[in-house]
Amino acid sequence: METQPRLTDIGYIRDLLDRHGFHFSKKLGQNFLVNPSVCPRMAEACGATPDSGVLEIGPGIGVLTRELAQRAGQVVAVELDDRLPPVLAETLAGQDNVSIVQGDCLKLDLAALIRERFGDRPVAVCANLPYYITSPIIMMLLESRLPVTGITVMVQKEAAQRLCALPGTRQAGAVTLAVQYYAEAETLFTVSRGSFLPAPNVDSAVIRLTVRREPPCTVRDEGRMFRLIRAGFGQRRKTLLNSLTTAGYSKETVAAALATAGISPTARAEELTLEQFAALSDAIEG
Ligand code: SAM
Repeated sequence: METQPRLTDIGYIRDLLDRHGFHFSKKLGQNFLVNPSVCPRMAEACGATPDSGVLEIGPGIGVLTRELAQRAGQVVAVELDDRLPPVLAETLAGQDNVSIVQGDCLKLDLAALIRERFGDRPVAVCANLPYYITSPIIMMLLESRLPVTGITVMVQKEAAQRLCALPGTRQAGAVTLAVQYYAEAETLFTVSRGSFLPAPNVDSAVIRLTVRREPPCTVRDEGRMFRLIRAGFGQRRKTLLNSLTTAGYSKETVAAALATAGISPTARAEELTLEQFAALSDAIEG
């Protein structure tokens, strides 16, 4: 029986990368997983089944890709670094249900890619994300309303705390409320820095965002609500009465809207729930 290369074996990885003349790029957030227990757990958690498709971002040398391919009907992996597809051709040889797309996940038309490659299959996203663009990737996936059921991703532990914070608590930020609007967020497990090659300076966590079919609250103008959220958290120590003037509203307008929405005139952004931001947005003049 043909044995598969051990993609978490540091000796094997160094030899593989040497043969391909590959050096890690810090700029591209290249920290490859070498803890053998993590990828199977992530692949299970994303809910891949033989009837489903998985979109992976940043396959690296394919350690997670292979676990996904063993569970999903079809895997499409988008990798920016053009030095990696030849490496992946070697490590994923014989894995017929995987295709690699070389490109920047923030620039590709992922909706078209999903339509072309997965057809009617339910699709999940699963990835060990490059840390330098964690939030932009997550927000792009959610805001573009890609037809995906869930997003199971490894991020820095601090980012996980913010993304999965409860709105109305100190850990919450603008991104917490944005994520909350589109998905239900949960932290699944933490992963120590020693699980990666090279080891980063921080620990990580795997989070799962289960995409909502309907938003949890109604708001007349989503764009306005998110502008208010960004302005409020942009100066989070100030009261909304002061911080929202940066979104172009006069103090009188903000004060009247806070009163109409039943929010204290001394409230700060971090004290508000999503529903309260929605009420404030509906109350404020456009
Ligand atoms: N999945 C592999 C693993 O777990 O070992 C690699 C994860 S590594 C943290 C992030 C990967 O994302 C790298 O392979 C990097 O080249 C790739 N990457 C960085 N920026 C990207 C982008 N904008 N679009 C697609 N892939 C990107």
